[in-house]
Amino acid sequence: MDNADFIVRFWGVRGSIACPGPDTARYGGNTSCVEVSLADGTVLVLDAGTGIRELGIELFERGARKLNILLTHLHLDHLEGLRFFGPLFDERIALDIWGPPSTVLSLEERVRRSFSPPLFPIDLRDLPARVRFRDVPRERWSVGGATLAADLVIHPGPTVGFRVETAEAVITPGRSLPPKTSGRSIAPVARIARLATIFQRR
Ligand SMILES: [Zn+2]
Repeated sequence: MDNADFIVRFWGVRGSIACPGPDTARYGGNTSCVEVSLADGTVLVLDAGTGIRELGIELFERGARKLNILLTHLHLDHLEGLRFFGPLFDERIALDIWGPPSTVLSLEERVRRSFSPPLFPIDLRDLPARVRFRDVPRERWSVGGATLAADLVIHPGPTVGFRVETAEAVITPGRSLPPKTSGRSIAPVARIARLATIFQRR
């Protein structure tokens, strides 16, 4: 969606596992990743599923330097693309990664698990980008020209939903669904495109 003070693009809309192929050609086969870019240059990336890889290529072409990733939670379908996010390999990039706090491990410790053997050969701390991990605050906070809010939603493990407010719109990309009683792993953002809501202020 293209608007006066923001652009929303869905780079990944699938849950659980990437599923490329002719059956998913229309909306793409990548897992969760939504870009909200503001007119002032602020880039917000909601979730780091496999869709974030292609977004990283485009951000490089745009020359974006300050990025923010907002992680709803750390299930793999929302995180697995981060290891292939090109800006992490660029020393000119400053990246803030926001996510839900946990009483067990810090956000950095939880994310770094996927950057460790045997899952991945490169430690996150050895990548050149300047990365900061930030627990989402209880209160609203600002990033660039946006006001952000996060609140807990029902899902296994610490999980938040985000609200992005600009001068012209309130954007709530996706929301998590309650667990199914079947016990199967659930994909809260599998239908993120359908669930996304954008309310015009004017
Ligand atoms: Zn999940």
